[in-house]
Amino acid sequence: MKLQYERRWREIVGPLERRPATGGGSLECLIGNTPLVELRSVTSGLPPGVRVFGKAEWTNPGGSVKDRAARAMIRQGERLGLLNRTKTLIDATSGNTGIAYAMLCAARGYRCTLAIPANAGPERKRMLAILGAELILTDPLEGGTDEAQRVVRDIVAARPDRYYYPDQYNNDANWRAHYDGTGPEIWRQTLRGITHFVAGLGTTGTFVGTARKLKELNGAITCVSFQPDSPLHGLEGLKHLSTARVPGIYDPSLADRHESIGTEEAYRMARRLAREEGLFVGVSAAAGVAVALRIASELEQGTVVTIFPDGGNRYLADRFWSAS
Ligand code: PMP
Repeated sequence: MKLQYERRWREIVGPLERRPATGGGSLECLIGNTPLVELRSVTSGLPPGVRVFGKAEWTNPGGSVKDRAARAMIRQGERLGLLNRTKTLIDATSGNTGIAYAMLCAARGYRCTLAIPANAGPERKRMLAILGAELILTDPLEGGTDEAQRVVRDIVAARPDRYYYPDQYNNDANWRAHYDGTGPEIWRQTLRGITHFVAGLGTTGTFVGTARKLKELNGAITCVSFQPDSPLHGLEGLKHLSTARVPGIYDPSLADRHESIGTEEAYRMARRLAREEGLFVGVSAAAGVAVALRIASELEQGTVVTIFPDGGNRYLADRFWSAS
């Protein structure tokens, strides 16, 4: 009984123990080693041998999975001598990466400029400004983050000496953050028992890095990627890859299976997770659960892990929460 209890404790909260005690660490030490949360209610009806977990990335200090990639890209810039206090970090971001850059740049004394589609949520823009980032608002009708990327490339081309442009869509440090962090963490936290990994595609860093590591650790793990089912969607942070610019770091060969999901299905699941599990997670996290449940419903036995990229508070102003 005691052993079983300790095993569960390690599985669910163990990683938090590795975070430094107060007074000992920097802000960056709080990034990663996020807990795995088991879904208990929305999984009812599945065989007892099938378990579904979400990795609680909102517990990172910037509130999202993107803290991992931003830290890796900033460290890479420093290592290569491309980023120092005479430079400005600049990138295109729909929100979470921007918050992570702004937070880490503030902590390290770097200037930070972000191109962001003008229709991004007001809370996000406010948070970026509070963290000291300069914002360039781009035309959302010109193609969302693709347009923001184009604007950044023009600015950097005009004054390359002034900027460090990590370019998260084409930077190997993005997926490597997950290859070195997210993947091994999931492996440890499931006591090497993960059978299926499910993640959405934005820059694709989370899926590519985690799937690549998990496949190396056990080639039998099934890796499932998913994307919105249409170009006009409400799954913030995810891309409809057949109509968007495909990120350079994307490796489609890592997916054993590819799923698509509609915005309404994700909204419904976000409401269910809040009411039935007490999990107030973001829309892409809810989409991950909906896809994970599709996979889980086909199994007799298995451990399915998805990612909760951010928390519901990033979407508080959205109206879908109040639908029944
Ligand atoms: N969900 C949210 C809320 C995000 O901000 C992102 C990052 N764009 C993703 C999912 C996808 O992560 P990645 O960029 O690593 O593919």
